[in-house]
Parts: sequence; structure tokens; C-alpha cells
Amino acid sequence: MTPGVRPLIAGNWKMHGTLREAAALAEGVRAGAAASRAELLICPPFPHLVPVAGALGDGVGLGGQDCHAAARGAHTGDVAAAMLRDVGATYVILGHSERRADHGEADALVRAKAEAALAAGLVPIVCVGESEAQRLAGAAEAVVTGQLDGSLPDGFAAAGGVVAYEPVWAIGTGRTPTEAEIAAIHAAIRANLEGRFGEAGAGLRILYGGSVKPGNAKGILALPHVDGALVGGASLVAADFLAIAAGVPDAA
Ligand code: PEP
Repeated sequence: MTPGVRPLIAGNWKMHGTLREAAALAEGVRAGAAASRAELLICPPFPHLVPVAGALGDGVGLGGQDCHAAARGAHTGDVAAAMLRDVGATYVILGHSERRADHGEADALVRAKAEAALAAGLVPIVCVGESEAQRLAGAAEAVVTGQLDGSLPDGFAAAGGVVAYEPVWAIGTGRTPTEAEIAAIHAAIRANLEGRFGEAGAGLRILYGGSVKPGNAKGILALPHVDGALVGGASLVAADFLAIAAGVPDAA
């Protein structure tokens, strides 16, 4: 944890669930949210944003999983940042490795989307992370810092932007880096943020994501410069998501 920073535990529901399942899951998260020391955030699929917001109540934040770089216009199938804000979202995940892989999103587009998010009053959660081949080649830190340089807009720190370190090979696989490897990349991210944004970079939240479960969350969340988690699969079970949030250190 970073001293003085409230941890953020964010659930990315991706493209899962029916409306009925989403509402039940949100009710389950709501039921345990008051006991959490961490800030809780749920990012449902777009069609579920409004009903999930209602089911979550005021104690759990709402986020989108993506937005377009333009403020409005003829972009069939896309969603504007202001639309997310309008339905109650306060965060948006950007540059997730599945967006980078499935839709060819490169750093410049992620940066443009983050600028759109900031303009709409959303806090961007910008995802970075190396592939397995890049890690095996010893390039993990260089890849991640390069993605930060290319993906973060200048206004990122002033808006309290969030970085999520998500090694691509750890997402949905049940595999994670060692705690030492996570700590090393998070330290490199912190150095990058401080180098770019000065003092403001010291207080930005850096989340870890990639096969976080109730069983490994406590150890990961205790590491320096790990200020929360971005959770995929385990966020689809309310008890598991809440158990992960319960793993934040007592001092948090
Ligand atoms: C994610 O996709 O952001 C993620 C961390 O997924 P999982 O927890 O399932 O690895």
C-alpha cells in the first residue's frame, strides 16, 4: 500500500451475465460493502450499467469498461464518456489487454480515450502489462513504462487517474507473478509516475490485476505501491469479491 492512499478494489465483469444475474450479483456486493475499508467499484457491461447502479446503491462506485475517444458522433456500437458519466459512472477502464488484443487498441488511442474520459469528468483506469514472451525476454518493465508514456494524458494525475498493472499472461489463467515481481513492476510504475507528474504521481493509485483471488489477495495487497486490485473472474462471485476487498491491510 501507499501510505495515506485509500485502496480501490474494482470488479471488471467483462461480457458476462444476464440482467437478472447482474442485479443479484450487485445486491450481493452491496450487502457486504459497508464493512469494506477499501473503495469498491463495479464495471458491468454497458446494458447493465443503469440497473446495476440501482442495485449497488450509494456505497459502491460504478464504472464503464471502455469509451470512445470522441465526445459524440457517428460511431455505431460505441459509447461516449459523457454517456457513462450521465448514467452515474465515475470511472472507466481503458486500454485493457482484451481491448488492445481484440480491437487493436494501441497506446495513442488509449491516451485519446483517457483524454475524452477526463473531459467528461470520469477517472480513467489505464491498464498496462506485458505478454509472457515479453516477460521471458526480460522486457516487462520496459514494456510497461513505454505503455505508460504512450497511454497517459497530461491531465491524468490532476484528475487522480488510476493505473492497473495487468500482466497479460496472468489474466484469467490462475497464474500470477511472484510477489517480488509484482513489487518490482509497481515500483517502476511509481517511479515513472513521479518522473512525469512529480509529487502528484506519488499519490496515484496503482492496482494489480491478473488472477487475484481471495487466497492470494492479502499478500499482494500488502506489497509496496499496490493500492488495490482490478479483479475479473473472482468479481463474478460476490463473496469472493468482498473477500478480496477484506484483504486490504489494516492500516488502509
Ligand atoms: C482482468 O481482466 O482485468 C482481470 C484481472 O481478470 P482476472 O481477474 O480474471 O485474471
